[in-house]
Amino acid sequence: MSQRKIMVVDDDATTRYMMSEFLDVLGHEHVVVSSGPACLAELTADPMAYNLILLDIHMPILTGVHTALSIRQFEKDPPQTIPIVAITADTNYHQPTRIKELGMNAVLPKPVNIDALHDMLSELTT
Ligand SMILES: [Mg+2]
Repeated sequence: MSQRKIMVVDDDATTRYMMSEFLDVLGHEHVVVSSGPACLAELTADPMAYNLILLDIHMPILTGVHTALSIRQFEKDPPQTIPIVAITADTNYHQPTRIKELGMNAVLPKPVNIDALHDMLSELTT
């Protein structure tokens, strides 16, 4: 079975670059997209391909919160139960209880630290 991938969703090019570098260093295959609609399109095209989503909260067009809600409304699983980790500098979203109420599994504060990312991925990917 081929390795499933991580998807990074962020409208900020610098964050996309940093996360991609970190995931390369940590040895995780990944795909990077820049918007909520692009994330949903990827999941629709290939629902089995991903084992975790790293999702920015503040994005134009479709926020991370709305993107996560749409992912949870997929009829099939995956993506319905795929782990979603919010990545955000907004302290309003740093409490795990709030993140879980919004349908996501965990949160990593920005700027994301590679050691924290490693620990989170060890916990949530299989
Ligand atoms: Mg953003």
